[in-house]
Amino acid sequence: MIDLRSDTVTRPSAAMLQAMVSAPLGDDVMGDDPTVIRLQEAVAERAGKAAGLFFPSGTQSNLGALMAHCERGDEYLVGQLAHTYKYEGGGAAVLGNIQPQPIEHAADGSLPLEKLAAALKPEGDPHFARTRLLALENTFHGKLIPADYVAAATAWARQHGLATHLDGARVFNAAVASGKPVAHLCQPFDSVSICFSKGLGAPVGSVLVGSVELIARARRWRKMLGGGLRQAGVLAAACLYALEHNVERLAEDHENARLLADGLRAIPGVKVLSQDTNMVFAEFEPARCEELTAKLAVDGIQMRAVYGGPTRLVTHLDVSAADVQRVIQAVALHLG
Ligand SMILES: *Cc1c(COP(=O)(O)O)cnc(C)c1O
Repeated sequence: MIDLRSDTVTRPSAAMLQAMVSAPLGDDVMGDDPTVIRLQEAVAERAGKAAGLFFPSGTQSNLGALMAHCERGDEYLVGQLAHTYKYEGGGAAVLGNIQPQPIEHAADGSLPLEKLAAALKPEGDPHFARTRLLALENTFHGKLIPADYVAAATAWARQHGLATHLDGARVFNAAVASGKPVAHLCQPFDSVSICFSKGLGAPVGSVLVGSVELIARARRWRKMLGGGLRQAGVLAAACLYALEHNVERLAEDHENARLLADGLRAIPGVKVLSQDTNMVFAEFEPARCEELTAKLAVDGIQMRAVYGGPTRLVTHLDVSAADVQRVIQAVALHLG
């Protein structure tokens, strides 16, 4: 089975499972699971922040961060297509009483400063929600957000008294692709949420990093949101294993995505729109999408060709270079 739908589909390897069953455990709600503590410290150190907090999912980690930064009636500036706004069930509004102010993205995924400035609410006027936070995402649809943009946007935010959060679900992909230490990419932000259940291959888990004070506030919200887990070290052990073994190899996923894009480009009926880090976006001949999806499924290839829209193909540690060749051959055969 070759599954290109997402990098969330990876299964824990035998060595990762071994690390999970042999992890020392405690009650993490009481703060004494040694494996969770080790993970939180290791991620905080890698990210260059003072503290870390383990969450069961990236959705909850982002929400915990938003709630730690904002109070009821506050507002955060966020991309129209950002995960924290569009793909997290409206949690900021529903559970956090935080109003999102979505901003249209530029083509490179950034949120133009003039659009941010136009959305910023005047302070002290009771007509408006209080703009409190700027939230960015890196990578965004696989794209590296330009470093000079991040520097300018976060400087602008600080200048206006806003806190900054990075949805860094795939910030390790960004680090590997840019050749910069992950701490360098996290440095401009007050908080960063990092996923271990994407290309890093853990079954579950995210870590939020930030200052000691921010993480203390997030810990309270995590408990309220139902994310206080007891012997969570069994999960944290998988994330520690991923941190120690699966970061540098993300370069292979990026190379495989490049090979996949190159192979698909040569096939009539396929239009490759973009390839960045581990993601390829392509359009397939609309009339053949349904048939192509079904035929690939018979070949053991999971990829849902979207009728009339971009199809996302994602490489990860359960997709090899040989698998990529098999996909290219199968698509060429079925569209031929
Ligand atoms: C996957 C993802 C998250 C978190 O999702 P969960 O499935 O809740 O772990 C957050 N942001 C981005 C950009 C993601 O891709």
